[in-house]
Amino acid sequence: MEHKTFLPWIRGIVFPLVCRLCGCMMMRAGRACPLCSDCEKELPEVGDCRCRICGRSLISEDETCMICRKRASLFNMEQNRSVFEYRDQAKELIHQYKFSQARGLYVYFAERLTLEYNSFFPGLVAVPVPTSRKSLRTRGWDHMGIIADMMHSAGKVPVEKFLEHHGRHAQKELDYEGRLTNIKGSIGLKAASCRLPEDALLLDDVFTTGATVSECAAVLKSAGVKRVYSLTLAID
Ligand SMILES: [Zn+2]
Ligand SMILES: [Zn+2]
Repeated sequence: MEHKTFLPWIRGIVFPLVCRLCGCMMMRAGRACPLCSDCEKELPEVGDCRCRICGRSLISEDETCMICRKRASLFNMEQNRSVFEYRDQAKELIHQYKFSQARGLYVYFAERLTLEYNSFFPGLVAVPVPTSRKSLRTRGWDHMGIIADMMHSAGKVPVEKFLEHHGRHAQKELDYEGRLTNIKGSIGLKAASCRLPEDALLLDDVFTTGATVSECAAVLKSAGVKRVYSLTLAID
């Protein structure tokens, strides 16, 4: 996908002329990127050598990372793929988006996820992971929902919001076991979701333990979806 695909959709949005990360004045004609070229190059992207399940960068392990070897039985998904490693500038940018009201970043994140989608998951129905009610109240908007909407309108990605969140608690402060317990039973299928695809691609912001996407995958599979993948902005 060419970057200019997103241009008609950002015409009405005024981006600041200062870089989101370093604050320098910048000119990025033709891009939805809110970063100067130096800062964009510094974003820590996941390398080519990845775990075949969770997509973490591998150093010496053989195909599967140590974490996935221990937790394989709990993992309901085929594979996760992430754009960035959740550290440094990528972490800062995602924090600005989720917690500092830098809502305009959805355009850039949608662009990056769509590039990854077209290369690795073309044709799959994308399903955004639903936000908890508490986060919706605090943040005021569905941060993955609007990224998915943008991927659909500008990138022609098929998007279906099949899932909803019944739980009251966010996952942020919990460890793996806590996240599993907290998320269990809190994701449900929307009543109108009758035509489910054979393959689905979950969209989420950060893959930490995999408990959230794994629970979403379990719900989709119990309703008849055969294979579930996930595409996330970053992996912790
Ligand atoms: Zn910069
Ligand atoms: Zn792994």
